[in-house]
Amino acid sequence: MADKFNSDRWVRETCRRLNLDLCDNFGAGSYDFPQGWKALVDSILTAMRGCKVQIFMIREDHGLLDVRMVADPASELAVLRAIYVYQQWASVTCYCCGSRGRKLVIGGKVRVLCAGCINK
Ligand SMILES: [Zn+2]
Repeated sequence: MADKFNSDRWVRETCRRLNLDLCDNFGAGSYDFPQGWKALVDSILTAMRGCKVQIFMIREDHGLLDVRMVADPASELAVLRAIYVYQQWASVTCYCCGSRGRKLVIGGKVRVLCAGCINK
């Protein structure tokens, strides 16, 4: 996957813009997901705007969009709902281009790809 997208930098810029709190105590790799999922992560972060949330991790793991956060009780249900909805979308959204995709096992790893990106 020739992927120049820097998800870590993008998350930091987006959270600064939305005034969301990142807690990347674990350093590099906490915000690591493919470019095709950027719009989905953008929707999750936008849904968190105005909520008291600490975001620890946003990663792709075997076809799952894994978001780890702590929200205060007043915000928690709304934030969890947004994460859940966009996680379901991620499981059918191409890693590369964001089109409708499906899960494939390639090299022992689950990837979500569309028909056009499978052979790239
Ligand atoms: Zn694609």
